Formats: sequence, structure tokens, C-alpha cells
Amino acid sequence: MQPWIARNFVYRPATWARGEPVFSLLRRYEKSQWWSPEQHRAEQEKRISLILRHAAQNTAYYRTIAEEKGLSPRHLNASHLSEFPLLQKQHLVEHNTDLQSSRPPGTTSWKTTGGSTGLAVQLRKNRWATAAEQAASWRSYRWYGVQPGDRQARFWGTPIQARSRARYRAIDWVLNRSRFSAFAFGPEDLKRYYTQLKNQQAHWAYGYVSMLTEFARYCQVEGLPLQDLGIKAVVTTSEMLTEGDRNLVRESFQAPVYNEYGCGEVGAVLYECEQGILHAMAENLYLELKPDPTEQEPDAQALIVTDLRNLATPLIRYEIGDRVVPHPSDCACGRGLPGFRKVFGRAYDFVQTADGTRYHGEFFLYMIEEARESGVPVLQAQFCQISPDAIEIRVVTLPGYQTRHGEALAKRVEKMSEQRLRCQVTVVPQLDRERSGKLRLIRGLSRA
Ligand SMILES: [Zn+2]
Repeated sequence: MQPWIARNFVYRPATWARGEPVFSLLRRYEKSQWWSPEQHRAEQEKRISLILRHAAQNTAYYRTIAEEKGLSPRHLNASHLSEFPLLQKQHLVEHNTDLQSSRPPGTTSWKTTGGSTGLAVQLRKNRWATAAEQAASWRSYRWYGVQPGDRQARFWGTPIQARSRARYRAIDWVLNRSRFSAFAFGPEDLKRYYTQLKNQQAHWAYGYVSMLTEFARYCQVEGLPLQDLGIKAVVTTSEMLTEGDRNLVRESFQAPVYNEYGCGEVGAVLYECEQGILHAMAENLYLELKPDPTEQEPDAQALIVTDLRNLATPLIRYEIGDRVVPHPSDCACGRGLPGFRKVFGRAYDFVQTADGTRYHGEFFLYMIEEARESGVPVLQAQFCQISPDAIEIRVVTLPGYQTRHGEALAKRVEKMSEQRLRCQVTVVPQLDRERSGKLRLIRGLSRA
């Protein structure tokens, strides 16, 4: 579909019909991105006060907390935020009903999130909340030269049930995007994807890091020039983006690659700007940081998020389970949105040994990068914990792979873990994906 038509005759009326003021918020966010940090802070304080009062007056969960703390729901303000306890994903499951507002403003929709974590949660969102998420995303996509309505090639999961598939087809049509399934794809599928893309002239590509890198590698090997597709920007999401993967995708598509970070509960949290700094969507989310150092990143902080928009299921001080490394100075792009150098590691993405030592995604990513650099022909790897002190490394190999390569990798991981982990390497034709299509680097004991 022609982008202008898609934007003005399909997507815009669809937002009106749903009661989502996406375009007016987008205009507002275009301006507010240039506000000073102090201006953002003042606006956030107003919204924090509102959300605290709304939550304490209209949800059983927060009413109880306010009572316990001796706080009057009507007189709450931003200074009371720190008195509210941290909220974890488990609480969302256990107190789901009590967290729902008895007086959500207007229509709401349900959002199911995080099935892949083993803890699926259903949240309700009001229209302003979903509109604010979209507006923040479009504002950031504009940094990459992407407008609402521009044709998108989406490398993502495809629902299995026919009814959901039909619904997603409709959403894809409204948003002018074509979907390339990340579930299962062999060489024949990838070849078909290339041909389809060639005929479609997508403006930008969006999807899982693992899927985009696999597609890029396939096209490289087959001599299919990805740069001929005319893709102007690639946005990756949901999985960790290593420098190696970024370079591969950028060079293949001959287009810049930007990292998006978010989660279903609160929507998009961080977008990378033109300077490579990740900026927070300060209009929608208030972020708190709690020191949570790792060996590789002593400045790492745990991310705590208060959703400033969702009045249907208020989320106050939600501990997302990921870490960030703050950017110490102002970003050269000039935006007043808080900046971060790095985001990494879902808390559940780790292997824990019997003595309590945790090995995070970074550790295993490093092992694989190091192995590749030393000439081990491994295309993909996945680390599956099979007992407290043993992991199976599943690898998809490249030509030239020999058993000794796997043995060397296993030995290296064992050595680096100071013999806490025993490793075995299994060569597999392809790695199993989650139901969402996401590829998980680590599978902990509960899900292995
Ligand atoms: Zn910036």
C-alpha cells in the first residue's frame, strides 16, 4: 500500500475508531523530546501523583498498601512513590484481579504478555495507554526516517490459531506491514521471503535479532543482494543485539540498525538514537535505578518502571528484571530524554549452579563470540541447563565443523565457570524457538 494512503486513509481512521489519540500524542511527543531533563521531571511528578491517587482509590491492591502505610489515597503525591513496594512479575500473577482498576477510564483491551518466561500475565490497558505506547514508538521510528504508514517487513511470530491469524492479518494490513514467520523456516522459506521482499519494496525491517541475522547470513551465502531491497532502516527488538550481529545486518542490508527495548507490560521503554544512545520514553514511563553490578558491568543498575499512562492496571515500581548502564553525560543528539549506554539480561535468562553462582546471558554470548573469533564454525548456539551443574550447548554448525570444535568450546565454558558447569555439545539442525517466535539464548532448569 502507498505509505501516504496507509497513513491517512487506513491507520489514522483506525486510531480514531478505536479512540486512540496516537497522532495528537505523536505531535506532542515530537516537541517534548527536546524538553530539558528538569521539564520532564516536573511533568513526570504530576503524572506520578495522578497515578498514585488513582491506584490507591481504585484498586484493591494499592488501597491495601496505602492503608498499611497510613497514607491517605486522596493526598498522595510523587514524594510518596518510594513508600510503595517494588512490584514483580510474580505479583502480577498472584494479585492480578486486585491490581485491576474498578474504574478504568473508557474502553480497555487485554494484553497477554510474557508467555515465554513461563509466567504468562494478562493486563488491561486503557486506550490512552495503548495510544501513548504507539506515539512514543512512532516518535522514535522517525529518528530512523520511518513514518506511520511506511511499508514494514516484519520478522516475527505468526499466531497458530486460525482466529488469531485472521486478526493479525487485519492488524498487519492496517499498519501496512508484511509478516515473515520467525517460527520455522528452512532455506526454501528464506528464499521465498527474499523474492517477496523484492516485489514489495518495504521501507524498513523490524524483528528478532536472531531471525534477521539468519536471513542476512542465508542471503550472503546464496549471493542474494539484500541491499537491492531498498530497506532504509532495520529495527531489532526482544533479543540481545551483539556488535557482531549488528555489523552483519547493517552490512547486508546496507542500512543502519537500531535497537528497541521494551516489554509487553509497559510497552516500549528505550530506543536507540542516531548517536547510539538508548533513550527512555520519559513521557510514558518513570524509571528508577537500583545498583545491581555484574562482573562485566560494575555500573549496571536494575530497572524499575512506573507506567504513567495505564490507568486500567496501574503498575507502580515494576521491577522489569533487566539491567541498564546509564550514559553519564548529555547525549549529542540534544534530546532531554534519559540516556543509557546499554540494556541487558532478562533476570530469568541465567543459569544458576548448585552453589548459587549465576551465569547471565552476557557470559554465554561472550563464550560464543570468542569461539567464533578463534575460528569455531558455529552459526547459532543455545545453552540449556539440564541439571544444577550441567548444561547442554546446542549448536547449529557451519561447514568445516568438527567434533574437536565442540569439545574445545565445552572445555572453555567449563574452565571459565571454574568447573562449576559440566558441558556437553549437541549439534542440531535448528534451535527451538519459543511460542512467540523468540529465540532464547539460555534455557534455565524450569524450561530446559
Ligand atoms: Zn541521543
